[in-house]
Amino acid sequence: MGNGATNIYEMIRRALSAQVDLGMGEMVVNHRPQQTVGEPQVLNDYRQAFASGAADLFGSSGSGPPAPKFESLDAHCEAIADCRDCPLWQERNSLVYGAGNPRADVMFVGEAPGADEDRLGEPFVGRAGKLLDRILAAIEMSRRDVYIANILKCRPPGNRDPQPAEMEKCFPHLKEQVALIRPRIICALGRISAQALLETTTPLGRLRGRWHEYQGVPLIATYHPAALLRFPAYKKDTWQDMQMLKARCDKPAG
Ligand code: SF4
Repeated sequence: MGNGATNIYEMIRRALSAQVDLGMGEMVVNHRPQQTVGEPQVLNDYRQAFASGAADLFGSSGSGPPAPKFESLDAHCEAIADCRDCPLWQERNSLVYGAGNPRADVMFVGEAPGADEDRLGEPFVGRAGKLLDRILAAIEMSRRDVYIANILKCRPPGNRDPQPAEMEKCFPHLKEQVALIRPRIICALGRISAQALLETTTPLGRLRGRWHEYQGVPLIATYHPAALLRFPAYKKDTWQDMQMLKARCDKPAG
């Protein structure tokens, strides 16, 4: 298959993946009858993992985060700086650990670093990062108030979706971050993050707008800022999700 055809398939894959991100659709791709657009291969892989008894693959249940293994985020970051637990280390320029307030009430979790993040070693930079800054400002928060991390710490080549095996290898790093930060609220940004944290294949459109739990921590899911750049109409839903987050955050703890 020539590069042109490959690019067209990649464009179609990304467009349909974006639709899945937004909770749309059950279309069937006729030339690949075993694949449903609403459930691309990666979701089938998750489904198989969950069905095979690997529920709690990502440690989503529990009444609270377990005790951390490290004494601080800095110590943990240093310990995994040369992580080679999955093949993504081979092409990374930076391991993008996370950034923000180590005692944050709210922790945002995206899916994986992109090209800018890989170059700079910071999560959520570039256009999507700027939009996240504006979303935070709209709920009277800034990056100094929250903590931002991704499920994967290294960039998947070409910004493809994370693979289940990569996520399984990298998830302990995120779990340790949650254990160290002990946030009051987790906000999953985008389909990949929400489905991994909640161990489900339910479309994001049906996960957002209501509260869930990850290890006993209230979790809300909403659209990834990169998806909002492509589909601005979904900013309204995101605004509603952020209002829910803000209202819960402003409630006194206890
Ligand atoms: S993506 Fe995660 S598991 Fe894979 S090499 Fe990077 S830090 Fe390690």
